[in-house]
Amino acid sequence: MSFSLAIVGRPNVGKSTLFNRLVGKRLALVDDQPGVTRDLREGAARLGDLRFTVIDTAGLEDADDDSLPARMRRLTERAVEEADVCLFVIDARVGVTPIEESLAEVLRKRSAHVLLAANKAEGRAGESGVLEAYSLGLGEPIPISAEHGEGMEDLYAALQPISDAFAERHAQLASEAARVEEAGEPLIGEDVEEAGEELATPVRDPLKAVQIAVIGRPNAGKSTLVNRILGEDRLLTGPEAGITRDAIGFEIDWGGQRFKVFDTAGMRKKARVQQKLEKLSVGDALRAVKFAEVVILLLDVRAPFETQDLRIADLAAREGRAVVIGVNKWDLEDDKQQKLAQLRESVERLLPQLRGVPMVTLSGLTGKGLDRLHAAVLRAHDAWNIRIPTAPLNRWLLEQSQKHPPPAPSGRRIRLRYMTQAKTRPPTFVVFASRPKDLPESYSRFLVNGLREEFGLAGTPIRLIMKASENPYAEKAAKRKIH
Ligand code: GDP
Ligand code: GDP
Repeated sequence: MSFSLAIVGRPNVGKSTLFNRLVGKRLALVDDQPGVTRDLREGAARLGDLRFTVIDTAGLEDADDDSLPARMRRLTERAVEEADVCLFVIDARVGVTPIEESLAEVLRKRSAHVLLAANKAEGRAGESGVLEAYSLGLGEPIPISAEHGEGMEDLYAALQPISDAFAERHAQLASEAARVEEAGEPLIGEDVEEAGEELATPVRDPLKAVQIAVIGRPNAGKSTLVNRILGEDRLLTGPEAGITRDAIGFEIDWGGQRFKVFDTAGMRKKARVQQKLEKLSVGDALRAVKFAEVVILLLDVRAPFETQDLRIADLAAREGRAVVIGVNKWDLEDDKQQKLAQLRESVERLLPQLRGVPMVTLSGLTGKGLDRLHAAVLRAHDAWNIRIPTAPLNRWLLEQSQKHPPPAPSGRRIRLRYMTQAKTRPPTFVVFASRPKDLPESYSRFLVNGLREEFGLAGTPIRLIMKASENPYAEKAAKRKIH
């Protein structure tokens, strides 16, 4: 992520003209986003090789409740709160007015970093105004012409060290992210490395077994399905060939890929003696889920999504397992079209924690749909193992926060600064934000759903951890003040 720059100044100095020059056609109009009330305009700015967010305060001066200077002050204060850096623009042809003196005072006191630009400086008419601007006590004015594109190199030179400071801070955050502790598995450390920007599909080793478990209520058809998979394998490889059993389950080849199957069906048969009631023990389900990389939740099409099914699905999601839903006994269904629509609706409504979960209709009895089940399981396994490089992640995050900015509780917009993937299996992301505690759950969900769509992560849970990050420029400025 990059920094944000607010353009402030009194009306008519050329703020919008500058905004448009920096943003070009890349303006993100966000006012139509539901649930987002905003007034400051934001856009993705580009200046040379610099990328940042630009915030325009123009056009907000017209509120008629107050005197212009008072409104200007309030607006400037808000811009200071929201942006990392302020660019204070004056009109070089007019020079410094009392409003500008008062705004400069706000900026001197409050902003971590202020740049001063004297606009309309093309030709000679602005020369005296540029000189006058020194009197504002905000450092050397940068003469520019927003309309004619002059002085952009000087603006670039002023922004470049700021951009560097943020980049430096991002590198720190990335290594910090790599240390974020999550129970269990070790962290993947080489996050800062940005090589290989392309999203590589994980290379699958056909000999390394993908661990799966078929779980579901009694009589859903688990044994039948597993036997069918076994049977297909045996047809190809001869009786019992290629099957190895141990205490946990058995290994087979299925469609050219090695799988290790956790045999809950067999387990249940043993337990049946004690459990006269046809009830899946939570202990069994939990063991199966813990063992598996991909959980196939098998439903009976005649009674899908009963409480037990939902509980198992939720368990799998909480344990961070990839999930594929198999709708079994599809051969019994007459109105397949309508049923499918119903099932999809039910999944979205009843299992929001597994949004976008793949659903495969099949018949363990006839073997129909097993090829699709095979493909869905491998895709979910890929998504569960995916590693998304930091650069595309942050490009995506910037885009999202421009399209749908985070809220601004008590007038201060929460900034999403940086994002990295800290872990796989399941994909776990760390987002650094200003005041992450104020970010509503709904915004995290928005990000998770967006990630899912953008990077094709169907069938895997996604973890998102929000962490606090400071404005690096504010820190530097604070240090400077001490000296
Ligand atoms: P804002 O109210 O601060 O957003 O100002 P605008 O961007 O709307 O500009 C106000 C007026 O100044 C418009 O007529 C612009 O065309 C003009 N303007 C903006 N930038 C320049 C510039 O660099 N040179 C000159 N001569 N006029 C400019
Ligand atoms: P489990 O308890 O989940 O292992 O279920 P079983 O595999 O023992 O199957 C329960 C019942 O459903 C048996 O009578 C199976 O023949 C039947 N069954 C399993 N799969 C299918 C299927 O795809 N279609 C139909 N029509 N019946 C099935």
